[in-house]
Amino acid sequence: LIEFDKVNKWYGDGLHVLRDIELSVRGGERLVICGPSGSGKSTLLRCVNALEDYQEGRLTVAGHLLGDDLKSIEAVRRQVGMVFQQFNLFPHLTVLENLTLAPVWVAGVSPAAAREQAMAQLERVRIAEQADKYPLQLSGGQQQRVAIARALCLKPRIMLFDEPTSALDPEMVKEVLDVMVDLAGQGMTLLCVTHEMGFARAVADRIVFMDEGQVMEEGTPQDFFSSPQTERGRDFLSKLL
Ligand code: ATP
Ligand code: MG
Repeated sequence: LIEFDKVNKWYGDGLHVLRDIELSVRGGERLVICGPSGSGKSTLLRCVNALEDYQEGRLTVAGHLLGDDLKSIEAVRRQVGMVFQQFNLFPHLTVLENLTLAPVWVAGVSPAAAREQAMAQLERVRIAEQADKYPLQLSGGQQQRVAIARALCLKPRIMLFDEPTSALDPEMVKEVLDVMVDLAGQGMTLLCVTHEMGFARAVADRIVFMDEGQVMEEGTPQDFFSSPQTERGRDFLSKLL
């Protein structure tokens, strides 16, 4: 479903942020991407829905080669949802309006159908009772669940999460992870950058460890946690504990 073939990216003309990335993700697979700060995790994720371009290699998502072709970019974005560390909700719209905005104005869904779909997704993240509130009236964990529901309203085949729990108070991390565990159980293709290694152990089919723009290791959580193959991997894990 996602295929990185020797993808290289530079910021400006100096900073080589992705180096010969080779990575393929099957439909329904759940990947956790980890690695030190600045290793290129967010950049890699953002390439998947063409929020970033790349200079060398080929990146194919859902059968579309991502390059200069705007049609492919649009086609890919329709199938990819993304959730960020900062929830990026529209503060002046209610929860429900946040969820119906793109379906109505971008996807051409009727307002009534969009509302019904939005309520179903709010149920799914267990927050339907907050539909008429404004984002800032909710806790961080609730806001992040709204952000997840909003991404789901566009019926993506792939969900990208970039440190979705890092901005949350500790007591709210679990409610967001629980929702993500549910999604993982429903066959959604997930790519998640996170430092939540408990989550990684519980749901990841594969862990990808990045350092300095390279994929240094990939393997099952069991393999990576019990016997990392590289010095960098061992060093990274030792700092997590
Ligand atoms: P973190 O764990 O801190 O989120 P990361 O692994 O997600 O780090 P990236 O955000 O992908 O790392 O950044 C990789 C490198 O690219 C870093 O050196 C960063 O400073 C640099 N970088 C990121 N975004 C830009 C940008 N828009 N312009 C220039 N350099 C950037
Ligand atoms: Mg990042």
